[in-house]
Order: sequence, then structure tokens, then C-alpha cells
Amino acid sequence: MISDIYFMPLGGGQRVGASCYFLRIGNANIILDAGIGKKNGLEFEPDFYSLVSTPFVQSMNQIGQIYISHAHMDHVGCLTKLMGCAGRSAVYMTEITKMLTEYQLYDRIYCSRSAGDPGSGRDSGEDSRLAVKSLLENIAAVSYMQTIDFGIYKASFFPAGHIPGAMMILFDTGKRKILYTGDYSLDPTLLTEGCKVPADTKIDTVILCGLHAKHPDYVKKSSSLFKKVNFVLENAESTGQPTACVVLQLSKGIEFLKALNEQNRRGIPIYIDRPLMGIIRKMEQLSIPIMNQHNKMIGESPPAGPHIFVTSDSGNRFLGGYRKIPVDFTLHEDFSDMKRFIKAVNPRQAVIVHCAKEYSVFDRTIEQEVMSDGDCRTQFIFAEERELYKL
Ligand SMILES: [Zn+2]
Ligand SMILES: [Zn+2]
Repeated sequence: MISDIYFMPLGGGQRVGASCYFLRIGNANIILDAGIGKKNGLEFEPDFYSLVSTPFVQSMNQIGQIYISHAHMDHVGCLTKLMGCAGRSAVYMTEITKMLTEYQLYDRIYCSRSAGDPGSGRDSGEDSRLAVKSLLENIAAVSYMQTIDFGIYKASFFPAGHIPGAMMILFDTGKRKILYTGDYSLDPTLLTEGCKVPADTKIDTVILCGLHAKHPDYVKKSSSLFKKVNFVLENAESTGQPTACVVLQLSKGIEFLKALNEQNRRGIPIYIDRPLMGIIRKMEQLSIPIMNQHNKMIGESPPAGPHIFVTSDSGNRFLGGYRKIPVDFTLHEDFSDMKRFIKAVNPRQAVIVHCAKEYSVFDRTIEQEVMSDGDCRTQFIFAEERELYKL
């Protein structure tokens, strides 16, 4: 049937990492996200071979559209490779995602070089950067609330919360409406508003990034970020010792700096490394304010006196002279937020992907939780990688 809809996770099914999903609407072949994953220090990628073994796709050149929900590496890390093999597809993401993607992929090249990757000298690093840049230049940026009509379906884009630039994508075939959430947050974060789901639209199917869909006891603690921030500020104040915060993910580095700035009432100088400063300046050009008068870029040598240094590079050459504080935090939606989201959208069908294993055999899933709720009509699919589902 011309309006049949199929779905297959190529990565990021019942685990986190390498998010990449095939969606077929009528005869349109679509890919949602193209991430990489990491397990035990090794990277893994989506399985594109399982896609070309379906009856629908013989060659990656038959992919029409690629949509990138947001710029985390588990959603975008494999994009340049995918663009290389799906040469005829058009790629859609927001302007901010595009900018963050560029930086994350550059950063990756930089890291592989400094890790002593043989043959990746300065010049080949520069070549790879240019290759990434020219690929990304061909991407058309989309805006929130924009709709593109592809004939067989329309795609509209909505704010997803989570990180700046993140979008949800609504596919409307005329008969069916399918929402891909990407990672999302219901409530505002330091740098984003919460997600905005189209209120007046009856959504039939939600493809939901449900990291904690099997973790009923997981409760999001936005306070953990603020505890860390206060710890760092108190340490810098009370000891007078230069304090370095190592935040390994660029986007977390930005969020952490924003939180530091909000709590830094004494005006302790906060220095930032060059990669982080580059990305922050770009974001500010896109109207996302982050810095204040106490922020400076680190110079050729570490400054004297008490200060805080925020870096995304654990191998930074200045770190020897600092008290180092590793920083990591997560602000993913928890179990009750997910329930709230599903109840608000009340889709006929929820396809759960990007879903981590249960912590114990006694953990109930979001499906069991929602089933016990009388006015919820949602049927669940916990989609497995390489399995083809008719939606
Ligand atoms: Zn994410
Ligand atoms: Zn993710």
C-alpha cells in the first residue's frame, strides 16, 4: 500500500548509542539520526547493512531524507559517514544543531589526533576538518514550527528542550501523524525551554527516545548540577587554589559554565579553554547568552590568583597546576516525566527506542506503568535493532 509505514532501528534500539532509525512512509525512505556509540572504550556504529537487506532499500542512494534531532554524538557522530554513502539524500537539522555538530565533529578529529592516532598528523587533521566543513555546508537548516511538504508526507519541526537546537519531527501523511521525539525535556533547562508538542494535533504514533523507560525508580536530580557548581565555587573561594573543571562533553561544558555564572556571586574569574570559547561565541551569535563579565579565555599561561578554569580536554597542558574536579551530570527525562509526556500526547502507539536495560528484574517498564492507567490507550513496542516493524 502506498501509505504503509515501516520502522527499523539500525542502532540505538534497546540500548543507548548509535541512534539511527529507518522510517519508510509510502515509498519515501527516511533516516532519523546518525549517531555513534561507545562501549568499553570501543566505538560502534549503526548497522546500515541490515537496511540494505530489507525489501525496500537496495542501495543507500535510495535514502531521500535524513533528519538530525540534536547535536549529541549518539545522534550525529556518524553523520558524515552516512552522508558519504547516502549521497543523494538531503539532510535537515536546525541552525544551532548544525553549528554544534560542526564543533563536535571537529573536536573528535582533534581528540583522535592528540590520542596519537598514527598517520593523523597536523595536515591530515586539517584535511578532515575541511571535509567535515564542506559536507555540513550542504545542509539546509530548518526552523522550529516550519513545515516542509514532500508530497507523500509533510515534516514539521518543534522544540524538544534537552539542548539548544534540539528538535522533534512530526511526519504527517494526511492519514497518520508520527512524532519522533529525539532526546527531549518537558521542563526548561538552563539553556532551553521545555519541548513544545503541537497541542491541537492528534498524534497516532510516537517514536520516543526513552532512556529510562525501564527504570521506574530513576528520578532526575537537576540539583546534582547545582551541587557540583556550589562545590566548585566553595572550593575556589575557601582554598584560594586554582580549580579546574574538566567537562568532557562540549555541550555539557556550556551548560556547566552557564550554571557557574548564575551562582558565581563573588565574581571569581572563570577562564575557558579555546574550543569551548569558540563554540560559546558562536552560540551567542545565535542569541543564546552564556557568558558574563567574569569569563575570559585562557591565555598562553595559566593566570595567577584564585580562579576557575573550565576545559573540555582532560589532557590540557595547564592542568598540572590545578586542583582538578571532574564534572559530569545528566538531565535526561525520568520515568515520571515520560509518563507525563505519553499521557499528554496519548498516542495510539508508542515505539520506544534509545532505551537502557532494566537495573533489576523487578523493574517495571513504562508500558506496565501506563497500562494500569485507565484512560491511556497507548500500545507499546520496545523496538529491537535490525527488526522491521510495520507501524
Ligand atoms: Zn541527547
Ligand atoms: Zn541520546
